[in-house]
Formats: sequence, C-alpha cells, structure tokens
Amino acid sequence: MPIQVQCCGLAVMMVLFYFYKSQRTITLNTVKAFWNSFVITFVNITLDITSCIVIRYRDSLPTLLVDGVCKSYLASLGMLAYFALLYILTDVYSKKSEFYRISLSYGTFMVIAIAFIYILPIHYFDDPVNKVIYSYGPSDYATYVFALFTILFTVAVVIKQRKKIEKKRRFAAFVWISVWLVAAIAQFFRPDLLLVGFANSIDMLVLYLILENPVNNIDKRTGLFNHGAFLQYTKQLYEADSKFSALVIVLEHSSYKAMNAELEEEILGEASKFLISFPDLYAFNNTGSEMVLILPEGEKGISVMNSVRERFEQGWGKNSGVFISPYWIFVPDSSLATSPEDLLHLIRYAKQNCDDKLYENRFVEVNGKIAEKLNRKREIEQLILDALDNDRLEVWYQPIYSTKLNRFTAAEALVRIRDKDNALIPPGAFIETAESNGTILQIGETVFRKVCRFLNQNDLKQYGISYIEVNLSVVQCANKQLARDYIKIMKEYGITPDLINLEITESASTNTKNILLDNMKELMDYGVNFSLDDFGTGQSNLDYIVDMPVDIVKFDKGMTNAYFENGKAKYIMDAATNMIHGMDLKIVSEGIETEEQFNTMQDLGISFIQGYYFSKPLPEKEFLEFVKKAKEKDHVL
Ligand code: C2E
Ligand code: MG
Ligand code: MG
Repeated sequence: MPIQVQCCGLAVMMVLFYFYKSQRTITLNTVKAFWNSFVITFVNITLDITSCIVIRYRDSLPTLLVDGVCKSYLASLGMLAYFALLYILTDVYSKKSEFYRISLSYGTFMVIAIAFIYILPIHYFDDPVNKVIYSYGPSDYATYVFALFTILFTVAVVIKQRKKIEKKRRFAAFVWISVWLVAAIAQFFRPDLLLVGFANSIDMLVLYLILENPVNNIDKRTGLFNHGAFLQYTKQLYEADSKFSALVIVLEHSSYKAMNAELEEEILGEASKFLISFPDLYAFNNTGSEMVLILPEGEKGISVMNSVRERFEQGWGKNSGVFISPYWIFVPDSSLATSPEDLLHLIRYAKQNCDDKLYENRFVEVNGKIAEKLNRKREIEQLILDALDNDRLEVWYQPIYSTKLNRFTAAEALVRIRDKDNALIPPGAFIETAESNGTILQIGETVFRKVCRFLNQNDLKQYGISYIEVNLSVVQCANKQLARDYIKIMKEYGITPDLINLEITESASTNTKNILLDNMKELMDYGVNFSLDDFGTGQSNLDYIVDMPVDIVKFDKGMTNAYFENGKAKYIMDAATNMIHGMDLKIVSEGIETEEQFNTMQDLGISFIQGYYFSKPLPEKEFLEFVKKAKEKDHVL
C-alpha cells in the first residue's frame, strides 16, 4: 500500500513531539496556536493513512465508514489550512476581541466548507498492481478550493499586516505556505503521489526549527525564561487585561559581586532551579543580574513571594554556606504600568529612586505614589520636548546690583517654560529631569542663543549692564564640545565675550571636572569670565574655589538667609567672605529680600547683590524697562 510517505511524516511528527514535550514551554498565544496546528497535522496524517487502508478494503467495509474516514481526512486538511491562518493571526491581532472576530467569521466559513466536503460525493481509485490509491471527485475539489482560498487569504493577511509580523515569522509563514502549495498542486495533478500529509509534517518541522523551538525562550545560562519571553508573555497578559504581580530579584549585593565566577555560576544555577520548581510562577532572567518572577495577583502572589524570599534568606551552595542577600522590588499590581516596557521602566525607576529604602531594607514595594512620580517625570519630559519643539523656552533676567558703583551692572539669565495653557513653569520643576535625560544640552544651548540674540538686539551697555550671567549645568560642562559650540554661537550673533559670564557649579567626578577645566580654559582664552554658583549649598565648597579659575563666587540664597538666622552661620560666612576676598574674587549675594539684608551685605563688603529686594527675574521687555528706568533715576540708594 502506498503509505510509506505518510508514515515518514508520522515519524517526523513523533520525533518532533518528543523534542517539544521534553522542553519547558511558556503559555504564549503563538505557542498555543502552534500546538493546535501540530495536533491537527498529526490527526491529518493519521487519517491520510487510515483512508488509504479503508479504500483498499472498501469492498468489505460499510460505505458510510469508508466515506466518513476519507471525508474526515479532507475536512482535517481544510482545518489545517484554517489553523495555519489562526497561527498568523495570533501575531497580527494581539487584541483578543479582534482575533476572535476574525477567527470566528473565518471559522464559520470553514464549517460551511466542511459541510460541503461531507455532503458532496467522493470517488476512489485503487490500483494494487501499480500501488496507486487516492480519492477524487467533488468532495476533494471542495477541499482544494477551500484550502487554496484560505492560503490566499493568509498570504493577503501576511502582506497587508507585514509590519506587525516579526521578520522571522513572516519567513516561516512563507516557507509553510510554499511547501504546502507545492505539495497540494503536485497532488492535484498526480493524485497518486499523496504528498500533502508529508508536506504538513515538514511544515511543522520548519515552524519548530525557525520559531517554536522552546529553547528560543530559554536563557542558556540560568535555564529560566529569557528577556524576549518576558516581553512576549507580559504583553499577552496586558492585552488580555489579566492582572498579575511581579517580583524582581536584583543580584547586586556586594557578597554576590565578590564571588568568583565558578561559584557565581553554581549559585545562580541552584537559585534558578529553585525558581523553576515553583508551579505557580514564571521566572525570567531579565538581565545578567536581574530576575523577574511573574506571580498571581493578590494574596496568592504574596504567599509565593514570601516563600521565595524565605528561601533566599537561607544559604546556597555546599553546606548552604553562601548568602547572596539580593535586593527585592515588588510590583503588587500590574495595572500600575500599561505595557511590558512600561513595567520595566517603572521597575528601573523604583530601583533608582528608592535607593535609601532599598539599601535599608533591601525591599521596595512599588506603589501608586512611585508610579505617579514616574508619570510626573514623563509629563515633564514631554513638557520639555514640547517646549524645545515649539519654541516655548523663555529667558527671564534678574538684575544684579553693584555695591561699589551703586547701580545695576549685570543680570542673571534664568530659564522658564511657557506651557500650552500659557502657565509659566519655573526651572526648579524641570532642570533635574532635563539633566537626567540629557535634554539640558538643548535647553542650555537654546538659552544661550536667546541671551546672545537679546544682547545683539539691545545695547545693554547704554543702561550700565556690562554682562549677563548664564547658568551652565554640570551635564553641559561634561560635554567636550561645549566651548567650541558656545564660541560659535557668540560669533554667530556678533557678541563680544566680555558680555558673557558663565555660572558653573561643582562637578561630582574628577573626569567631568577635567573636561570642565578644558572647556573653561578655551572659553577664558576667548575672553569669557566665570562665576561659581550655589556656594554654601554643599554643591560648591571652598577647596573648589581654589581649583577653579573663576572671578565671582555666588552665595546661595540659603547661605545668605542663614547669616541672619543662625549665629554660627554668620561666622562661617564672615570667614568665607574674607577668604574669597583674599583670593581677589568678587562675591554676589543671592536672595536678598529686605533692606536690612541689603545693608548688612553692603557692610560686609559684598560686591554684588541679587534678590527680590531689587527685582524678581523679569521677561526681556520688562527687564529693559527696569534697567532703563533705573538708569534714568541713576538708581542711588
Ligand atoms: P540659581 O542659578 O542659583 O538662580 C537663582 C535663583 O534664586 C533663581 O531662581 C532666582 O529667581 C532665585 N532668587 C533670586 N533672588 C531671590 C530672592 O530674593 N528670593 C527668592 N526666594 N528667590 C530668589 P529660579 O529662576 O527659579 O532658578 C532656580 C535654579 O534653576 C537656578 O538657581 C539655576 O540653578 C537653575 N537654572 C535657572 N535657569 C537655568 C538655565 O538656563 N540653565 C541651567 N542649567 N540652570 C538654570
Ligand atoms: Mg545661577
Ligand atoms: Mg545661585
């Protein structure tokens, strides 16, 4: 009987089954769809073989049985085509409702097609001498028409939705359809070949090798599921609105880091094995030192978490003598985030922003407050991007009074954002975020351009204003291009360097300090002067003044105020003032709000005063009017 080819197909399926089932799989929708296709292929090949047998012995078997088996084989072919389509659709329509809508309407079409397959007549051909057996007739043709139509529909979906389908999956779909099509066409013209069943098993093999090998989802080092599987699995949960909780184990503790590589592998292997043994959780190795466990939401998840944590409190390795004391980040409610990426973002944010708690208890529960903070940060990031894109940065100017010349001689440029509702957002609300995501570089450059344009359009010297102080962020100072960029901008606007004084603050690392010094040297050679801002906040200290080639030191508002409120602070400021003057540097006192404060600072010999006592920061036009008026009055106090 000509069933050798189908038997080979069946053998391929069995081997595949063995490999597939001997590995750990994760319940992804695509995995389920693959498994459905696998089962139907298996049934199809089995029916193929059975139909050859019943055709051969049809004279001694009831016609209904022979027809039933042969038509069931044909129906399973139609179903296989349908399941192939579903497999592709799982990827395209990740939203459950859309997927169900399309699969249901096409499923109805399939049921009708199968009804035709069963109703229409079928004929058999059997030539034992030449070993040829096959069925033919209207039932067969109905199968071919339905299968061909389904394949064409699948091809159309793949082409139309190609962007949503991973490249590898597109390729697999292409191979799958091609093999099937070639076999089906060959069988249509040479029904004696009986190739389709075997082609189906080859298709399963191709799919398995390219896409569905469970090994693809496993992290080789730990045996846990990998990062790709984490993204796919949690995406699926989010799309299905299934709630879950997540526990992150961060292996960054010093005792873990201090381990030698061999011991580290051993402990990691042991810990992973422990996690894998839990029936209620999926454990993923997210990065080298971070594992994420997806747990059920609520009490059940918490109890699993507690068991996991308890185990980690005990030792690992031989004699349980190695303790790894990881950090734990727990997200009790998946709806604090909206997607896998969002969830990772939240975990990262919690890790970075809860350092204190993390170091203290080694455990942080991510709550609505943290999520809210992250959202606020994102809103600010968006605000900054909008401001940069739509020219919504404004530079305001606060006049600086010279106690020696008894008039305004300078001003500080201070940035603000005008939001969409026309509200003014102060720098305190966005500078930190801009520094953390790098947008401060663009903000700094925009502010500097605006200052240069302002200086170019207005002759401030006629009002006695000799220079404008512009703030530089530490992030800008660590940019090797800074000096070149700023000199270029000054040249572009025809600004002489004496009109600019740049305010720096203390840099945290020696490396950035060296880059800052290079930038300062280049700008000073060009003729720009520098101030040291924020003195007295802990950001700028005395030894820093010694190292930095600045002309002016700016006493922070906090320091000036402390002078009036705290007896000890008075002595510190007196001493600092003497020392700074001793170094032949000038001082600006910020935050002067009252006449008493002003007089005291003047008596102390402070050269410049900046504060609400004279004026708050003002927009360009008002600032011009202010200095104009002051000049007219020849502002003498
Ligand atoms: P800063 O550079 O120390 O600027 C002085 C701050 O003190 C300004 O706040 C100013 O409005 C405020 N101030 C001045 N006198 C008084 C006073 O008498 N009373 C009170 N209560 N406040 C006074 P502002 O404009 O909100 O700026 C805050 C900080 O934002 C600045 O502190 C600076 O560190 C940063 N910043 C502002 N503009 C820029 C910029 O263009 N680039 C960078 N990197 N940072 C900027
Ligand atoms: Mg400043
Ligand atoms: Mg300051």
